[in-house]
Amino acid sequence: MNTQHAPSPDSQTLPSGRDLTLAWHLRLPDSLEAAFGQQFRDSCARLVPGATILMVTLYMVAFAVEHLVDPETTAASWRPRLLAIMATMAVWALTRMGPAWRPFLQPAVATMALIMAGVHIFLGVTVDHALANTYFYICFLAILLMGSLFRIQLHWALPTSLLILAALAVSLFGFSRFSHAEALVIWSFTLSGAIMSLFGQYFFERLERRLFLSDRVLNLHRSELRAANLSLESQATEDGLTGTINRRGMDQRLDSLLHKMHHQARGAPDSIAVLLFDIDYFKQYNDTYGHQAGDDCLRQVADVPKTMVQRATDFVARYGGEEFVVVLGGTRLRDALVFAERMRSRVERLGLPHSKSPRSVITISVGVACTTAGGAGSTELIHQADQALYQAKGAGRNCIACVEDDGSLRVITS
Ligand code: GH3
Ligand code: MG
Ligand code: MG
Repeated sequence: MNTQHAPSPDSQTLPSGRDLTLAWHLRLPDSLEAAFGQQFRDSCARLVPGATILMVTLYMVAFAVEHLVDPETTAASWRPRLLAIMATMAVWALTRMGPAWRPFLQPAVATMALIMAGVHIFLGVTVDHALANTYFYICFLAILLMGSLFRIQLHWALPTSLLILAALAVSLFGFSRFSHAEALVIWSFTLSGAIMSLFGQYFFERLERRLFLSDRVLNLHRSELRAANLSLESQATEDGLTGTINRRGMDQRLDSLLHKMHHQARGAPDSIAVLLFDIDYFKQYNDTYGHQAGDDCLRQVADVPKTMVQRATDFVARYGGEEFVVVLGGTRLRDALVFAERMRSRVERLGLPHSKSPRSVITISVGVACTTAGGAGSTELIHQADQALYQAKGAGRNCIACVEDDGSLRVITS
């Protein structure tokens, strides 16, 4: 188990799948091994239907050829052959039983290869025909089909191949009618074929495992990049002091919301309210309590609307200095004024002392403007809210003003 990142010559270069080295035994750490095994079994299951058709066809062709050569032999061989076909069909049936049965797929293929080899060893020993030695050659095909046709993993194919080779050796040298030399030729042929097949399988599986690891590394980079992008995006649109959305973010969000509403996109609000508020006598607050206290005050005031907005479309943004914007999707003027009044009174009730204010506490003035589909764009909407705010300041501060539907300005005193 030795999957490690080789040190990258350039620390700016992301590690790729090629940097990963596999141990000679190819085994990955347990969690990865389990995932790889599942992926491998799934790809094996995809090969089974085609491989089954091919196998059954080849069995039929072999049967037909055998019948042409010696019809008497087929009378004796069809039953063992049928057993081999049934074993192949059982593997196919297993894949049809769904993913829950996948863990049994590789042992089933190994068993099928054993049955195939066993059946032909049996025929090789029992059939009395000059060409009976050809049955033994099928053992090589049984080994080959595990690696090249069904593509099961090496840790299943290797012991199964060794079992087949052992059974072949015992039957050739112990029970067959062949001379020692003939038996040796057949066994050596099968052994050579098995070595080639298993080597090929080893390198194929190594390649598969490296591809699997490359995929993992790539996915890891992809999710890291996505997370980094999200964090950069939110940093780029967040106001560091108050945690509200900054001016840039506000422009983007408001434009997008208005665009959706004006184009009547699915799920878009049918009206949008903008509340622009500004802290009263804030310059004096800074002068009296210092800039640091001013910053604390900004944070606490910004928290009030932040805790009040609930819908996904709603947000609070720092418009600049000590001015904030609250955007409420799907809110008409009446409801926006209720929201504004609740916000104004909550700020007042915070009770942040301000000796230079007539109320002796921090207060805000709010300007409210609303638009519906086909109405004002973002610049005009903000401008209207600004005019209303100016009106509220002129009316003595700590109050709300709004732009009515007919465009007139109205001050609402609490
Ligand atoms: P008004 O009632 O008319 O709003 O009077 P005001 O004194 O609040 O006047 P204005 O809105 O123009 O005040 C802006 C002041 O806000 C100026 C600046 O000292 C202060 N300010 C702006 N940004 C910050 C900030 O990030 N931190 C602090 N502490 N003060 C800020
Ligand atoms: Mg102010
Ligand atoms: Mg101001």
